[in-house]
Amino acid sequence: MTLLSVEQALARILSHFQPTKTESVPLSEATNRVLAVDIRAADDLPLFDNSSMDGFALRAADSSNAATASRVTLRVVADIPAGSSPTVSLGPGEAARIMTGAQLPQGADAVVPVEDTDFSNREAGSAAPAQVEIAKPLKSGQNVRPRGMDVRKGDTVLLKGRRLNAQSLGVLAMLGFSTVEVHKKPRVGLFSSGDELLEVDAPLEPGKIRDSNSYMLAALIESANVEVLRLGVAKDSRDSVAGLLEEALARNADLILSSAGVSVGAYDFVKGVIESNGALDFWRVNMRPGKPLAFGNYRDIPFIGLPGNPVSAFVGFEVFVRPTLGRLSGLSDGGRPTVRVRCEDEILSDGRESYLRAILNEENGIHTAKLTGHQGSGNLLSLVQADALLIIPAGVKCVPAGQEINAWLL
Ligand code: AMP
Ligand code: MG
Repeated sequence: MTLLSVEQALARILSHFQPTKTESVPLSEATNRVLAVDIRAADDLPLFDNSSMDGFALRAADSSNAATASRVTLRVVADIPAGSSPTVSLGPGEAARIMTGAQLPQGADAVVPVEDTDFSNREAGSAAPAQVEIAKPLKSGQNVRPRGMDVRKGDTVLLKGRRLNAQSLGVLAMLGFSTVEVHKKPRVGLFSSGDELLEVDAPLEPGKIRDSNSYMLAALIESANVEVLRLGVAKDSRDSVAGLLEEALARNADLILSSAGVSVGAYDFVKGVIESNGALDFWRVNMRPGKPLAFGNYRDIPFIGLPGNPVSAFVGFEVFVRPTLGRLSGLSDGGRPTVRVRCEDEILSDGRESYLRAILNEENGIHTAKLTGHQGSGNLLSLVQADALLIIPAGVKCVPAGQEINAWLL
C-alpha cells in the first residue's frame, strides 16, 4: 500500500471541516477571535480635520513672509483644547492655540508647533498668550490631519477570516463597533491513551511514565485560540477508549484529538473503536516522525489520532491539527510561513517527508541551522532546545552541508 503524502493527507483532513457558526461578542471579549464578516467604515477617519501637534492653528498664507529676521506676529483669538468644537473662524492675521487631536477652526489650514513660536510657556495649565510670533513659513495642510485621510466612510477596513489582534480591535473601536460578529471558538476533545500513563502528580510505579502529551497538546490547542475539553487518559481497552470518545461527543466537540494507541501494537485499540463506531478515512502518512497518524470520525465527529511518542505528537499537531483548527476557526489564511535556512551539516533522511529539530543561528542576515542532537521521537528535550523544524521533502535522502531548505520557526 502506498502511503498518503503529507499534502494529500492534509487536503483529505481539511475537506471534512467547515468554519464554526458565528456569534456576536462584545468588543472587550473579541481579542484573538476570528472575524466572520467584512467590516465597512460607517465614518471617515479621522472624524474631523484636526491638529497633529500642540501649537497654533493659523492661515498658512499669513506665514508666507515669516523669517528669523522678520517674524510674523499673529493675534491669538481662541484656545482649543482636545475634545472641544471651535466656534471661531480665523480671519487674516489671526491664530488659535490648539492641542494635538483638537478640531481645526474654520479658516485655519495649518498648525505651527509651539516649539517653533516665541511662546515659551508650555506648562500644563498655562493660559494662551494674546499674540504669537513665528519665524518660518508654513505650507497649507502642514501639521493637519484632514478628515478621511486614513479611512473613507464605506471603505472595507477588515476582511472576514482575520484574527482580531490588538490593532484590529483599535480600528473597530475607532469606528464605533461595540460588538463584532466572530466565529464560535471551536472545541477540541483531547485524551491520551495507554496503560503506562500516570497523572503528573501520581507517585511513580514500575513500568509507568507520566502523561506528558495531555499537557503539551492542550497547550498547543490553546495556542491556536481553541477551547480544550480535557478528557483525561484512556486505558488500553476498547471500553475505556469508547467511553472517552462518547464523552467528547456528549460535550459537543468539533474535533476529537487523541495520542497513542494508533500503531500496530497488540494493545492499540483506538483505530478499531473508530472503525466500529464511525469510519477510518486513512491511517499512516509518509512522514517522519508521525507516520502512524489516523483520521476518521466517531459517530460523525471528526477524529485525529496522533502517535504517542511526544515529538511525533507535536509534529503531527503542527502539520495536521493546527491547519485544521485554523479552518474550523474560520481563518482565511491558515498557512504557516516558512523561512529558508542553510544547513550547517549534512543531513541524511530516509526519503519520507521529515521534520527535524534544529537550532538557528543568524550570520549576516542568513539563518544557519544545526540539529539539536539525536532525533528520536521520544526525545522531547531536543524539541525544547530547538527553535525551528527543518522540513526535508519526501524523496530526499541527503541534504548536503551548505544547502538551503525550508523551516518552520517554533
Ligand atoms: P503507542 O503509540 O501507544 O505505541 O505509544 C508510543 C510511545 O509513546 C510509547 O513509548 C508511549 O509510552 C509513549 N506515550 C504514549 N502516550 C504518551 C503520553 N500521553 N505522554 C507521554 N508519552 C506517551
Ligand atoms: Mg500505547
